[in-house]
Amino acid sequence: MPKLKLDKAAFQSALERQWQRLGLHDAQEMSAFQWWQAVSAAVNELIPFQSGRQGDKKNPRHVNYLSMEFLIGRLTGNNLINLGWYDTVKKALAEYHINLSDLLEQETDPALGNGGLGRLAACYLDSMATVGQSATGYGLNYQYGLFRQQFSDGKQVEIPDDWHRESYPWFRHQPALTVQVGLGGKLVKNESGGEQWQPAFMLNGEAWDLPVVGYENGVTLPLRLWQATHAHPFDLALFNEGKFLKAEQAGIDAAKLTKVLYPNDNHQQGKQLRLMQQYFQCACAVADILRRHHLAGLSIQSLPDHEVIQLNDTHPTIAIPEMLRVLLDQHQLSWEDAWRITSRTFAYTNHTLMPEALECWDEKLVRTLLPRHFAIIKNIDREFKKVVRQHWPDDEAIWAKVAVHYDHQIRMANLCVVCGFAVNGVAALHSDLVKTDLFAEYFALWPEKFHNVTNGITPRRWLKQCNPALTELIDNTIGKGWVTRLEKLKELEPYADQAEFCERYQQIKRDNKQKLAEKIQQLTDITVNPEALFDVQIKRLHEYKRQHLNLLHIMSLYRQLRDNPALDIVPRVFLFGAKAAPGYALAKNIIYAINQVAEKINNDRKINDRLKVIFLPDYRVSVAEWMIPAADLSEQISTAGKEASGTGNMKLALNGALTIGTLDGANVEIAQQVGDEHIFIFGHTAPEVKEILSQGYKPAQILKKDKALKALLTELGSGAYSNKHKHAFDPLLHSLQQGGDPYLVLADFAAYAEAQQRVDALYRRPQAWTRSAVLNTARVGFFSSDRSIRDYQQRIWQAKR
Ligand SMILES: *Cc1c(COP(=O)(O)O)cnc(C)c1O
Repeated sequence: MPKLKLDKAAFQSALERQWQRLGLHDAQEMSAFQWWQAVSAAVNELIPFQSGRQGDKKNPRHVNYLSMEFLIGRLTGNNLINLGWYDTVKKALAEYHINLSDLLEQETDPALGNGGLGRLAACYLDSMATVGQSATGYGLNYQYGLFRQQFSDGKQVEIPDDWHRESYPWFRHQPALTVQVGLGGKLVKNESGGEQWQPAFMLNGEAWDLPVVGYENGVTLPLRLWQATHAHPFDLALFNEGKFLKAEQAGIDAAKLTKVLYPNDNHQQGKQLRLMQQYFQCACAVADILRRHHLAGLSIQSLPDHEVIQLNDTHPTIAIPEMLRVLLDQHQLSWEDAWRITSRTFAYTNHTLMPEALECWDEKLVRTLLPRHFAIIKNIDREFKKVVRQHWPDDEAIWAKVAVHYDHQIRMANLCVVCGFAVNGVAALHSDLVKTDLFAEYFALWPEKFHNVTNGITPRRWLKQCNPALTELIDNTIGKGWVTRLEKLKELEPYADQAEFCERYQQIKRDNKQKLAEKIQQLTDITVNPEALFDVQIKRLHEYKRQHLNLLHIMSLYRQLRDNPALDIVPRVFLFGAKAAPGYALAKNIIYAINQVAEKINNDRKINDRLKVIFLPDYRVSVAEWMIPAADLSEQISTAGKEASGTGNMKLALNGALTIGTLDGANVEIAQQVGDEHIFIFGHTAPEVKEILSQGYKPAQILKKDKALKALLTELGSGAYSNKHKHAFDPLLHSLQQGGDPYLVLADFAAYAEAQQRVDALYRRPQAWTRSAVLNTARVGFFSSDRSIRDYQQRIWQAKR
């Protein structure tokens, strides 16, 4: 489809309508924030919005991407870029003396996700729109996104993130699409002897759509976010009885459901309200999908030919029994028909192997909240048991592993594998581990169900939008085709050996670092040297991501410099960005430790400009967009086998940061693409980690041999970094030593420090460093989410059935 044209006159009158709506007489009365609102709302008015199915012979199935999180980031700049309207709007605004890039800074990030999983969903929507895949994103319209982070004396403090969804200018409310959702209640026998669900109370699900704009192709897909309100927000009976306040109570309770995003990443809590959120989102989505299918005049039997439902992790798994329930109880289908339709419609993406993140729900909770779904799950298990008994007669140990309902728990991942037609991991290594470790028995039963789709990132936001200077250099060198064909960046390879290109590339990195240095100055009042190596670790705070390994290395450098002030090291700025889940005490202790060590180093006159440690507060998509173009080194140092893929690694490599990393997740494939000479790989491999843990890992033995490492831990426990409070870092120190540290921080320390010396050696050769950086940009085209989406199309969504 052709790119949409922007009619400047139409834009100006749309803009005028916006300030009139604000009750203003002319543009000059608008505040900076109102300008952002008005421009966004005006553009939103001008884009047509597709919500139905778009016919495509090669890709006939409409994709319904279900995710509890969409970490979309700011939309205004991104939408203008994808529409191809950025320059026109910029010029139109200049006539009012408004600077577009300043205006874009007015937007609060819609932080409707925690980290990588939610950001992946956002990149995939961008790519589906861009490759023209007919699709709808389904999620929740949280009133409060992920908390805002502040530091108080080095400790994380969480502030509610009210992002003012009620006045967010990109929303389109679709009152006609409101869905009714039941909860609780009981099962009653119906005329035909079957069981019918009688919910105890009903909620409304209101559809709030955000436009997902394809790149210059005229496509706009809906991201449909459901918001809970009460079916009868005002109880007239109570009102008439004079109980005025109580009359409104129901409406208030319903609204609780979509109030907050749970702030856990890679960890499940088993809270009732969370299960209610999950069911609410799934019931709304399933009803909406079936409504569209019915409206298209298609038979229910043909559902799998027209629709696929992709589950982003197990969070929306309850959509499976919900689909069965609707087919059985509303459409009166037989179990066989309902099962055939459902099991050909759902596909599941696994995001983690870590046991604490695998969702299990207490059977009592499920039975109380969703009695009909509980009965359906039991039936799924009964049918599945027949299959298992055939393959492994009388093997209770196998059943104990593969059952959906076992030990009073409902295991959502197992439900997905049993009921879905496809299961995929998110990077090659991870998908192999899914087959050999997590789901080995299922793989033996159904090898054809299992796939790999390596994650990707959208080059629109993660290069074109965040790094305009590099974009211009690439455009001028190889043309603009790379924006939708990222593998074209390969054409940059010969320029890695061309001095003029490399000088420009290097200058852009320097300018980006200078800009970030100014931001750091504004935000933290700390001056950093833009000539220093910018060493960046940005991601959620989690033990498996090992920010504390990075910290130990920083402490080690600091100690070496104190012991030997003449030591010649490469000056570095260590940059962190990370939120810890509010209930994750150890992660918060690691943040505190980093901040305290930073405070000490940054104020040590003898260290001067050689080391600086900056923890930027409130890491989020817009902060990532400032930091990534300025990074020299990308820290991807998770314990091998724990990071399913990572996508931060891809964003940084694309922007010319070299990776220091373990052979984990997509790092393995990044190393293959960029070549071993252009990445710093270190540490134990996934099989080695497994072996060490099975032998019984003993951190004390490592500390016995490595006196310098032991000294660092002793120093942390001495109060030297914590105003003499010796117990300030007890949680961290305990986890590394007596706690047995399943993430093997100490076991990888020596190799990490050695790899950091290789980093220093290369950074001392600026031309060689820049050459490697250019080759990183040139060789990571594979990690475009456009490629991921095409893989999903070929391997899963449109595969021959
Ligand atoms: C990309 C991204 C992530 C994921 O980073 P990883 O390093 O892959 O864990 C998390 N948060 C934000 C804001 C991101 O943009």
